[in-house]
Amino acid sequence: MEMAAGFWHKAIGVLWAALGLIIYPNTLPQSGYGVDGIIASWIVFFLFPGVSLICFGVRKHRRFKWKQKYLDEQEPFLLQFRLEIQKLEHEQELGREERKQAEEAEEAARLGAEKEATLAAMRAETEAAARREATNRITPPPPPPSSTPPPPPLMPKNISCPGCGARKVLQPMQSLECEYCGTVLVYS
Ligand SMILES: [Zn+2]
Repeated sequence: MEMAAGFWHKAIGVLWAALGLIIYPNTLPQSGYGVDGIIASWIVFFLFPGVSLICFGVRKHRRFKWKQKYLDEQEPFLLQFRLEIQKLEHEQELGREERKQAEEAEEAARLGAEKEATLAAMRAETEAAARREATNRITPPPPPPSSTPPPPPLMPKNISCPGCGARKVLQPMQSLECEYCGTVLVYS
């Protein structure tokens, strides 16, 4: 069982003073001091410490009671305080929840926009590919480079007349009448 505050100080103080009262009368006959000396000694060594202890216990008890009273008075305020704190925490929790929801909505919107952009890019690419294909169908492919070497440049030729057999030098693509028989000579 828990004793009230200061109980043991008071109890020991009383016991100490009483112990002096029991011991001192028994030592009275043997001691060389007079009754006055013994009473003074009892006051100094037993009564004073005992009373001090009792006073200390009383103060302690009183302090304890004040503290208790103070706590009792504060109790409603403490309760109110705790309620306010709980309310605040609740509001904070709600705020956090709202922020979280807003963030989630923002994230969803961002993802949606990203998806939209990707789809648009894919559509644009597909259209570009289709356009490229159509252009390729319309314009014929460029002719392959010819593998035959270019014809050598034409040179003057010595031709014999089919009419008289006279020889004549003709320039490329030139045609002349034979100066002997009048036959037309053609460069070929
Ligand atoms: Zn001729």
